Amino acid sequence: QSYKTINEVETKVDSFLYLAEEEARKKAKELDDFLSSDGIKGNLFGIPVGIKDNIVTKGIRTTCASKLLENFEPVHNATVVEKLKVANSVTIGKLNMDEFAMGSSTENSGYKLTRNPWDTERVPGGSSGGSAASVAAGEVLFSLGSDTGGSIREPAAFCGVVGLKPTYGLVSRFGLVAFASSLDQIGPITRTVEDNAFVLQAIAGYDKLDSTSANVEVPDYQSSLTGDVKGLKIAVPKEYLSEGVSEEVREHIQAALKKLEDLGATWEEVSLPHSKYAIAAYYILASSEASANLARFDGIRYGVRVEGDNLIDTYKKTRSQGFGNEVKRRIMLGTFALSSGYYDAYYKKAQQVRTLIKKDFDDVFQKYDVIIGPTAPTTAFKIGEKVDDPLTMYATDVLTIPVNLAGVPAISVPAGLANGLPVGLQIIGNYFDESTVFRVAHAFE
Ligand code: GLN
Repeated sequence: QSYKTINEVETKVDSFLYLAEEEARKKAKELDDFLSSDGIKGNLFGIPVGIKDNIVTKGIRTTCASKLLENFEPVHNATVVEKLKVANSVTIGKLNMDEFAMGSSTENSGYKLTRNPWDTERVPGGSSGGSAASVAAGEVLFSLGSDTGGSIREPAAFCGVVGLKPTYGLVSRFGLVAFASSLDQIGPITRTVEDNAFVLQAIAGYDKLDSTSANVEVPDYQSSLTGDVKGLKIAVPKEYLSEGVSEEVREHIQAALKKLEDLGATWEEVSLPHSKYAIAAYYILASSEASANLARFDGIRYGVRVEGDNLIDTYKKTRSQGFGNEVKRRIMLGTFALSSGYYDAYYKKAQQVRTLIKKDFDDVFQKYDVIIGPTAPTTAFKIGEKVDDPLTMYATDVLTIPVNLAGVPAISVPAGLANGLPVGLQIIGNYFDESTVFRVAHAFE
């Protein structure tokens, strides 16, 4: 069915970089045989999934949407892919994204444009644009994305699907090609909150192969989908409904709060006073980490090599031709911020700001169960509208980035349509409290 839908819609949406049809049919056949002998085994038995192309898949090309990795076939699976294998889902293919997950519209892919299924003149969001578009278009039942500054939630909001960035450390990052290691998290994109909880259940948990993996017990997420939000205390940061947030988005968030009130929850306005420094701090920290992480792509160890006159020349040629403009911009910014003499002024300062942002969240969670606001300031924008202006593009993530800096979990759920385009509602929870996030999110289904 997945390939049938893909045949029908893929030319319009272009979510996939690579279809693993042969592997998928083999797996489906195995499951069929299994079904006739032993019955259903695994929570995601036979469910078609698409994987963002920065998550490594054994023997299946993994390019991070970069020309530099055009020929890269990993020799192992990411932990999340292994876990999906155990749950018996079927990998349909690899999904388009912004190159190395740097972007908010998937327009920075080295290969193709992905279009928003709601309006193909508009972007699907990014960087997990393929992951969100494929679910919205019905090509797969769920997908995996990665979120460093909003890359699961913003495309989920733009495409009208459910996207969760789990608490930092809940889901193993082993096999996720690192962008900014202190921020990156893998998470599920699904049609419903219930599906999202099922997928998180399958991929969460301690992994000794990831040194940042948290050794915590994973609760049963389905049991929190009661629909009961009575007595819950909700905080609404005034910074999340102020300038930059469009009128139509604001109205939908207010309607959602009204609905929660009707269901017995209460809400109050609060302040996250350091939010206004989040984008500036993020671009120093994320770019610094990216400049170090991407040093490994030197043409020797992975991917495409462009031969030069000597070793240094080979590095230069490979990286000049392999990386796109946005990736180069981040590497230059990060290298500058980390250079001696500037370290204290930029990197250290940004780390200090990060601590203050985290403290803002800690303070609010002393008194409230969840924080609610929009996922993005606007609905999906037009293709080409922001590509030439990186700063406007960066501002798209103003409401999602603070969450990554703090490390808390957050989900984006559809909160209605404005002028025919989906609006995303963001529900932010305390550390490792995905259960409450799901509980509130489920009230919108
Ligand atoms: N748009 C942000 C960036 O370009 C976030 C990307 C992400 O979450 N991977 O860095």
